[in-house]
Amino acid sequence: MHAPQADAWFSVREADPGVWTIEEPFHEERVKSSLIAGRDRAILLDTGMGVADIRAVAEALTDLPISVVNSHAHWDHIGGNHRFTEIAIHPAEAADLEAGASNAVLRPWFAPAHLSGPLPDGVTAETIVIPPSRATHLLADGETIDLGGRMLEVIHGPGHSPGGIALLDRANGLLFSTDIAYAGALYVYADDDLPVYARSLARLAALAPALRMVLPSHNASPIAPAMLPRMAAGVDEIVRGRPADWRRGSVSGWGFDGFSLELKPGGDEA
Ligand SMILES: [Zn+2]
Ligand SMILES: [Zn+2]
Repeated sequence: MHAPQADAWFSVREADPGVWTIEEPFHEERVKSSLIAGRDRAILLDTGMGVADIRAVAEALTDLPISVVNSHAHWDHIGGNHRFTEIAIHPAEAADLEAGASNAVLRPWFAPAHLSGPLPDGVTAETIVIPPSRATHLLADGETIDLGGRMLEVIHGPGHSPGGIALLDRANGLLFSTDIAYAGALYVYADDDLPVYARSLARLAALAPALRMVLPSHNASPIAPAMLPRMAAGVDEIVRGRPADWRRGSVSGWGFDGFSLELKPGGDEA
């Protein structure tokens, strides 16, 4: 179906009844935010890169009150936070929201090589910044977000980032796997985070038999639930000492069928 679009920067698709994937297809990260509606209210899971008005897009899709849940605080997921008043995030990354992101951080990400379409009018790589925002609610592992007729369970899944969360809609067999699990290159930023990440993936993998659809925050969407146990097994192999398949400077990479893992100590996080 066609959904109304407040801005050509975004591409909107109804992934499941009451669930919209809001993608930013002209940037190679292909980041996705999700609008998830219940009967009484809706949440926007992440607010994208901040180059266009994601609030207008979300408000065109539902009349329900909308609050933000951030999957984590990497810049490509918090760009539109400043347009909202209610923002929830895991406490491990709440302080990161208050920093926003400077033009020095963002400028390289918006070089022409990363773009396949125009930035919105008035937005340039030279001026883009992400304003600070502030958490109004801190999320705990196991917490339930009640949207009225739809319950979302918070799963703390550190490893890609310390406060990363996934959201489980158990009744509908939906997992919003955020940056914890997607097709393509998965990123971990420190050696110590690898076993932590392996445990997070094992938790998501255990859910796979009960899932109908996995909606990640980058690249192809949806992905098959069967990818989750394969990712968990792959990262477990790395933790057990499988040597890297390739190295580029300080970055080590491991390739698998349908995904890869890059260990990027001190790398630019996204
Ligand atoms: Zn991301
Ligand atoms: Zn990220």
